[in-house]
Amino acid sequence: MKAHDGMYIDGAWRPAAGPGVIEVVNPADEQVIATVPAGTVEDVDAAVRAARAALPGWAATPPAERAARLAALRDVLVARQDEIAETVTAELGSPPKLSQTVHAGVPIAVTGSYAELAATYAFEERTGNSTVLHEPVGVVGAITPWNYPLHQIVAKTAPALAAGCTVVVKPAEDTPLVARLFAEAVHEAGIPAGVFNLVTGLGPVAGQALAEHPGVDLVSFTGSTAVGRRIGAIASGMVKKVALELGGKSANVILPGADLARAVNVGVANVMSNSGQTCSAWTRMLVHHDQYDEAVELAAAAAAKYRDRIGPLVSATQRDRVRGYIAKGVAEGARLAAGGPDSPHERGYYVSPTVFADVTPGMTIAQEEIFGPVLSVLRYADEEDALRIANGTVYGLAGAVWAADETEAVAFARRMETGQVDINGGRFNPLAPFGGYKQSGVGRELGAHGLAEYLQTKSFQF
Ligand code: NAP
Ligand code: MG
Repeated sequence: MKAHDGMYIDGAWRPAAGPGVIEVVNPADEQVIATVPAGTVEDVDAAVRAARAALPGWAATPPAERAARLAALRDVLVARQDEIAETVTAELGSPPKLSQTVHAGVPIAVTGSYAELAATYAFEERTGNSTVLHEPVGVVGAITPWNYPLHQIVAKTAPALAAGCTVVVKPAEDTPLVARLFAEAVHEAGIPAGVFNLVTGLGPVAGQALAEHPGVDLVSFTGSTAVGRRIGAIASGMVKKVALELGGKSANVILPGADLARAVNVGVANVMSNSGQTCSAWTRMLVHHDQYDEAVELAAAAAAKYRDRIGPLVSATQRDRVRGYIAKGVAEGARLAAGGPDSPHERGYYVSPTVFADVTPGMTIAQEEIFGPVLSVLRYADEEDALRIANGTVYGLAGAVWAADETEAVAFARRMETGQVDINGGRFNPLAPFGGYKQSGVGRELGAHGLAEYLQTKSFQF
């Protein structure tokens, strides 16, 4: 058990203003592994002041120099990749291989992509008789969730720094350790004092204080739709820019000509990855009625293979919430084809990989986000029916389409109300804009679109 103290503010670890601490629990064995300070309004205020003071200097730093700092940051993340992976495994419970490739690997790729973008982006352009400058929005308040703890921080911090903004991050209370590690990496990379600041703490205290602080120009939030709505209201009340990356309930649409076994196996792997704690997971599998029974059998067999491999959920609260949804699915008449509400292990916050069959579009498990390893398989009669079901939730973050060929899959994907669609198993691309239609959010992260979120224009007419 390690008791960490201090907040990373203005380039140094400063004592926290209050005595409160947060216990960090390893969800695989339920042991307390560390404590971090619980930040207060005073800590947030100190961090925002530091970020404001650093803003003019960083905003005026040539993009090539900002790019060099981001490249140095990427190199530190590479050097500390094992430590990052071990930390995420300890506080999130993710299996070591996933921690290496995804939790540590993706932030390296994203930081690298912004080192390149900062060096090459057109921060100044001509249109007619005008010169348009793309200037940093200012001080960014970033509030992040625990499911991809480092990725969520990097997906906000890297583009903000590339743009010339300064940042205060409030990480999720469940996963503050990798956030502290990131602050050390920022320091090692020689990023000037005050450009990046970290305040650990509780959402309704430190998170809210950050969103409400008049010194914050842009609030970037990733998390639940319920909290996102509150943050959006606070930000609009104060006329701040806001970016919201919220929940999802993505559809995996398998059209009749597709390779059924591949589509089902990849679909199950997608849902079980990170123990189902992925906002863009394809939690609803849509199958033509002629292929339905075969698909359910394949999905149940695929899910059973994850029983001994899957990690725990992040906390007892999340485990109980997911089990509640499983009980609700049974109560509303869905059929358990694999898994169920019982835990596969005695210790740890585990949930069995679960597959529901005979799910109809109106059921709670087909409408609400379940942040756990639970797949619903729904049947459709024809393509129009599939489209109606796919688009029939308040969410629109991601999805997948499988068909005999790309043209057919793309024709269907064009009609989906969602920000991302993987065509016949297309791979994650860290340069492609990520974000939601409908109640899945406002704004985009990653790549050039993600950078543009942190910029505002100024036009000179000649
Ligand atoms: P959450 O409860 O909304 O928490 C997200 C962050 O907001 C945490 O840092 C949390 O602090 C903080 N927070 C909580 N209440 C707050 C308040 N009143 N004011 C300011 N900040 C507050 O979400 P979660 O349960 O941790 O994460 C899961 C959700 O995130 C899912 O719905 C998922 O779909 C969504 N998500 C979306 C994306 C995307 O890109 N669209 C990505 C990942 C996750 P605490 O940690 O102290 O609660
Ligand atoms: Mg929470």
